[in-house]
Formats: sequence, C-alpha cells, structure tokens
Amino acid sequence: MSEFLFAEETPDNAPQTQSTDAQIPRQYWDILIVDDDTAVHNITKTVLKSKEIDGRKLRFHSVFSGYEATQLLKTQSDFAVILLDVVMESDQAGLDACRIIREELALNTVRIILRTGQPGSTPEEEVILKYRINDYKEKNELTATKLFCSIVTAVRSYQDLISLEQSKVELVIEKEAVEQINAEMAEVALQIEANVKALELSNRYKSQFLANMSHELRTPLNSILILSRLLADNDEANLEPDQIESAKIINNSGTELLALIEDILELSQLETGQLSVNYDNFYIGDLTEVLKQEFSALAQDKALEFNLRLDPNLPKMFRVDLQKLKQVLSNLIGNAIKFTNNGSVSLLMEYREHPNKSIVFQVVDTGIGIAADQLDGIFQSFQQVDGSTSRQYGGTGLGLAISKEIVKLIQATLTVSSQVDNGSIFTLTLPLLEMTIPHKITQDQNTRITQQSTMVGKEVLIVDDNPRNVFSLIQGLKPFKMKITVAENGQEALEKLDTNPTIDIVLMDIMMPIMDGNTAIKKIRQQSNYAALPVIAITAKASRADQLEAIDSGANNCMAKPVDINVLTELMASNLMVI
Ligand code: ADP
Repeated sequence: MSEFLFAEETPDNAPQTQSTDAQIPRQYWDILIVDDDTAVHNITKTVLKSKEIDGRKLRFHSVFSGYEATQLLKTQSDFAVILLDVVMESDQAGLDACRIIREELALNTVRIILRTGQPGSTPEEEVILKYRINDYKEKNELTATKLFCSIVTAVRSYQDLISLEQSKVELVIEKEAVEQINAEMAEVALQIEANVKALELSNRYKSQFLANMSHELRTPLNSILILSRLLADNDEANLEPDQIESAKIINNSGTELLALIEDILELSQLETGQLSVNYDNFYIGDLTEVLKQEFSALAQDKALEFNLRLDPNLPKMFRVDLQKLKQVLSNLIGNAIKFTNNGSVSLLMEYREHPNKSIVFQVVDTGIGIAADQLDGIFQSFQQVDGSTSRQYGGTGLGLAISKEIVKLIQATLTVSSQVDNGSIFTLTLPLLEMTIPHKITQDQNTRITQQSTMVGKEVLIVDDNPRNVFSLIQGLKPFKMKITVAENGQEALEKLDTNPTIDIVLMDIMMPIMDGNTAIKKIRQQSNYAALPVIAITAKASRADQLEAIDSGANNCMAKPVDINVLTELMASNLMVI
C-alpha cells in the first residue's frame, strides 16, 4: 500500500451495514465514516483499528451516503468524529449532510472532517467558511499518520466541548440549587424578620406594661413611704416604740419594693434599647470620691477593709457616662461587701495601653466566692447562686443583669473569676474615648446646701388630683410651717394662682383630669408675672423622656414619685433661695 491512503480511490457504492463488533470495549471514541467508497471505509478502519487516543479505542460506524448519515444521526448522536466524503449520491451530498447535521439536527459537538477526492469542485477556503466543518483533507494527500493526527485533534476538541457542555450542565444544576437555597433563605429571612417584628412588638408591650405597672405602683408607694417615714420620725412624740419599729419596717419594705420596681423598669428599658448614653469628661477623682463616700461606712459596718488602689498612670480625666459607670461599679462593690464576711474588698483601677487604651477596674473580694458552674448564670435576670442567697443576703438577682446591659451600652466588657470560699474578682474593662468636649463642672441642684429656713411662712400651691398624695405632702411639709393651698387639677391651679398672687412655689402633679400638669405649667409660663415662679413637677412616670417633657414645658425641676420628702424640701428651698 502506498503512503497515501486514498491515492487509488475508486468509487464503490456497495452498501455496507454498520459495525456491530461485540468485542468493542466500553470505553471508546465513536467515529462515523460517511463515504460511498467501500475501500475508503476499509482502509480507514485498517490503519486506525489498533489506535488508542487518551486511553480509549476507536469504534467505527459505516454509512455510504449523506442521506444515510443524517438518518443515523437522528437516532444516534454521540459520535466524536464524522469523516465525511463530499461527492456521494450527489456532488454536494456531503456538504448538504453537514448543513443538516449542524442546523436541523443541531449537533454541534461532533467534529466533522471533510475528506474530498475532488478538491477542485469543493475549494477548501470556501467550504471551511461556508459550512461548519472542523477540518478539510484532500484524500490524495492523506497519509495514515496525517489521518490519525487529524482524528486525535478532532477527538480532543470533541472531548473539550463535551467537558464544557458537562460543566455547563453542572453549572445550570448548581445555579438551580443556589437559586433554590436563595429562595429558601429569602423565606427564612422573611420568617426571621416577621419574628423580629413580633418580638419587638412584644418587647414594646412588655416595657409599656412595665412602665404602666411601675407608674401604678409608685403612686400608692408614694403615700406609704412618706407617711411611714413621718410616723417613724415620731415628731409629735406620741407613738409607742413598737409602733415606731413597725413604721420603720413599713418604710424599709417600701424602699426595697421601690428599688425592685426601678430595677425591673431599668432592665426592660436597657433590653429594648430605650436608654441612651450621655458621655461627658470627668476627673477620676469625681468617681473615686463618690465611691469612697458610698462604701467606706458600709464596709466598716461589716468590719471589712475597703481599699481603693489607683495606678499612677491613670489619666486624670476621661470621657464616659459617669452615672452608668458608677452604677455598675456600685453594684459590683455592693455585692462584694454583701458576699464577704471577713477580710477586704478592693477597687483597683489600672491604665492599660494594649490592645486598646483602656481603664481596667477590678473589684476584688475575699468573700464566699462563686462555683465555676454558676459563673455564667449570675449575669441572668433573677439568678442567684442558690435559692437561699436572697434569704441570707437579700437582693433580687437583677443587679448583674442590669450591669451586663449597661456594660454593653458603654462599650465595655465585664468578666468574673472566682473560687468558692476564696473570693471573687469582677473585671470591668472600659475603652478610653477621645475627649472632645471641654470639662464642664455641673452642680446638681439636689445637692445644694439646704436652706430650709427660707421656706418658713412661704406659700406653696400643691396641685394633685389624688387626695392621698396631697395629704402625704401636707404632712411632709408640716415642719416648715408653710402656707398651703391645694388645687385638684391644672385648670384649678391657674384659677388659684389668679386669686392668690402671693403664691411662692408650685408642686405640680403631671397626670390629672381636666388639665394635665404639663399644659398647666405651659400656661403659667405664658403669664409674664409667673415667668420666674418656681414650679416643681412631680410625676409618677419615671422615664427620662417624661421628665424632660415636664422641663420642656417650663418646670424648674422634675421629681419622680415616690418623692423623698427630704430631697423635695431641699429642692424647694434651693428654688426659693434663687428668687
Ligand atoms: P443580687 O446581688 O441582688 O442577688 P446580682 O445580679 O447583683 O443580684 O448578683 C447575682 C448573684 O451573683 C448573687 O445573688 C450572688 O449569688 C452572686 N454574686 C454576685 N457577686 C458576688 C460576689 N462578689 N461574691 C459572691 N457571689 C456573688
């Protein structure tokens, strides 16, 4: 045989059947030979029979016309390569078959190698451009090697296309899976959003309920605290010692109840994000002085050492919500004293440069300690180490829960380490904030020096619709020998002021029928002769917003019920001194 496979090509139209070799391995490349010359089929198979491409053998299928080829391809489309003759049942039969394969049958992965015996009638350039074939070979130039190389190239490109198709299919499957997951996630997100809304709503109801409840409880507590205090003071010296003792117990229990109400309300406000942070610059001494005053005596009562140790590197001034920081430290020191029977309680303050500039506060005690498995629980509401704690030491189990929320609010952290019978260390790390506002020394009116003598003989208008509150206030003001006028609502207060221009000061309840306190205060301020009249609003609503509303209306001060009569009278005195 010459090197050129088809140099001696002679037409042979004898039909042949498709190869059905049972020995064909499972892994093979299907090659379709389309040629009307049986010899071409035979030679092709002979030279390629034993070849393998990338580990797979070749399997040949023979058809002898363009028509036969397209018919076969309608049912069997997984050929890797078609070796396609041009001139068969017609001069263009191969080219027509090519068009049908690509356009009508849309078989785009199979590689088509055109093999022509009459190149002149089917010029290479024109055919390549016009028909979507992949290679063009002239039979009389084709050697066994060239044919094999051409088939290798075609098979590889077929394999690449199949892989691409497969990855396309996989991508589509993946895309569908991702879309499915996205849809599910969107559904879950909707569900979460609905749950969050429901939770927000129920939280709002809860804090509304707590605010209302605290308001309802404060009003009767107001009378209980003022009157029990007056009874315990026994100014008129007409009570027996056991009656005085009972009055003291009523007053103490009322005070504890009030603390509990305030804690519950505060915790709810913290949890629902209703409390904001008020940053200001403070001297470190402001804080230590207050803590020393508050706790030295308490520690002394229990014969405990109370130490304050300050790192000399501490900044003299820092920016913080002092009231909130103090609340947390007071809770920690109060607990330390409460749960320590011998030894000491210390507050250590240290400046730390790394990882962030911060002040580290450590409250260290030598007390009863906390078991390891209880350490997490103590930061939860109403959690005490054991049920007997509240009986033995008092407390509600709310202090640390509140502290934990405040700590979050002021961007600090709070941790604890402890050992039973070996004391506890609570560590509060407060990041130092840039100080942008100049230090402002504020003087609280409540703490001004009391000048009660200024109240004697002065005229006070008490405006309140609740006779018990009025009675309590009258009792509380008795020692000051003031002239007292009473009005039941805002409207009546305005009338009383009209008829008594000598009134020196007004104590104004806020929630009243006919005309509420805020409206009455606004109307008072509209009269030029009352622009400077001291008005102290007294409200059962404890929220900061309610108190600010009273101040905005024109009140000089606002006190929350239950009123501490000493604070009220100091406040009255300081207001009366100003004019
Ligand atoms: P309360 O002190 O009102 O019970 P807290 O929330 O402040 O509530 O504290 C919760 C519990 O944590 C306490 O009841 C006590 O069991 C435990 N605990 C807190 N501080 C200390 C401490 N310094 N030593 C031992 N136990 C403590």
